[in-house]
Amino acid sequence: MKYSLFSLAVNTLGKHRFWPPMFTEAAPRRNYEIIIIGGGGHGLATAYYLAKVHNITNVAVLEKGVIGLGNVGRNTAIVRANYLLPENSIFYQHALTQWETLERELNFNAMVSQRGILNLFHSDAQRDAFARRGNAMIIEGAGAELVGAGQVKKMVPFLDFDNARFPILGALVQKRAGTVRHDAVAWGYARAAASLGVDIIQNCEVNGFETANGRVSAVHTTRGTIAAPKIGISVAGSSSLLAEMAGFRLPVESHVLQAFVTEAIKPLINNVITFGAGHFYVSQSDKGGLVFGGDLDGYNSYAQRGGINTMRDVVESGMALMPLIGRIKLLRSWGGVVDMSMDGSPIIDRSPLEGLYINAGWCYGGFKATPAAGLAFAHLIARDQPHEIAGAFTLDRFLSGHIIDEKGQGAQPNLH
Ligand SMILES: Cc1cc2nc3c(=O)[nH]c(=O)nc-3n(C[C@H](O)[C@H](O)[C@H](O)COP(=O)(O)OP(=O)(O)OC[C@H]3O[C@@H](n4cnc5c(N)ncnc54)[C@H](O)[C@@H]3O)c2cc1C
Repeated sequence: MKYSLFSLAVNTLGKHRFWPPMFTEAAPRRNYEIIIIGGGGHGLATAYYLAKVHNITNVAVLEKGVIGLGNVGRNTAIVRANYLLPENSIFYQHALTQWETLERELNFNAMVSQRGILNLFHSDAQRDAFARRGNAMIIEGAGAELVGAGQVKKMVPFLDFDNARFPILGALVQKRAGTVRHDAVAWGYARAAASLGVDIIQNCEVNGFETANGRVSAVHTTRGTIAAPKIGISVAGSSSLLAEMAGFRLPVESHVLQAFVTEAIKPLINNVITFGAGHFYVSQSDKGGLVFGGDLDGYNSYAQRGGINTMRDVVESGMALMPLIGRIKLLRSWGGVVDMSMDGSPIIDRSPLEGLYINAGWCYGGFKATPAAGLAFAHLIARDQPHEIAGAFTLDRFLSGHIIDEKGQGAQPNLH
């Protein structure tokens, strides 16, 4: 069904009882041309682009749970393209451009909202670093503006500008950045992929690989063995577990990242704000809740929940930036397991096994990458060649030392 004003009107007459399901649940077949493991944003986008761009529809997406409940539905929904290094900025600028037309392409309302992002700076040195980053963004076509404290005050007057320790001196602004309704992205891609013939199989956990002579030929799942000459792993926080099943190690650690939502308040923040002196970022959802997040919990884990100590740290940063947050009640928090690579940049590459491909290492920034990651991963699997926007995201860069260390912090996942 095509979603339109007409279909909305017709279904309103039927009191919304007759909308067809977004996609039909497929039962696993024994063979496919391509299997994608993981029905998150990246896996579903990959399946969609395999069908749409490469005309390969004999594809199964195997999801251990239900789609939309992994990180794709747990993130703070921020999309941006404010990177410095060319390898990242080309890629994320491409993703941002894709977000701008995605809803029309998928015929699905993902609430793409280009409300702008303000990265605040609090010292002269930080301003200089942001100016350099902004110049790189302008060169890449992603757009950027460096504004002083006066302009920031006009946009968000409720911040603590004169904080003795972290005075706000200005911000790097990207107007094209913003937020996207995160789980709608999973549903939109699932619906579009299924309508092109892809099988989306939920409650189907992969628990092993069939391999012979350095080649992968099938996956073992909770619903039987399923064969395919090409298999893509796109499981975010579970990447290292899947790699271990296939017999290799990834330079990736799994960490918990939390998100927080307050009670709904009247419209206050109409953009995304990041604190430059601590790890805190905030936006306001259309329902009115303030959505914010901060640092990793700081230990390796596969549990989708975090600790109270990190919550306290994040809220403390929030108080330093906008003291009014102290009057608002925190309603909900949750955790997601993020796949932290050692240089903070992702991996979209072949694995050491022939026929097995890996998309991982998205740290806490993989949501905004979803359309570009799906496009690039589909290209790699279909053509056995890296896509031009993702050629640098190789697995062996950690062996050769050609790391893409965006933050210049070295090989420590907790610093990226
Ligand atoms: C709290 C939080 C805030 C974040 N905020 C942002 C943000 O604001 N902006 C941003 O760009 N990024 C953000 N991120 C990161 C972003 O959400 C992730 O990088 C991205 O969603 C990962 O890709 P995905 O959507 O495919 O992952 P997922 O949705 O996690 O998909 C992976 C899927 O694989 C499945 N799976 C795992 N193991 C198996 C198996 N053995 N067999 C079958 N299926 C399996 C899982 O069930 C899961 O559904 C945030 C993450 C968190 C946790």
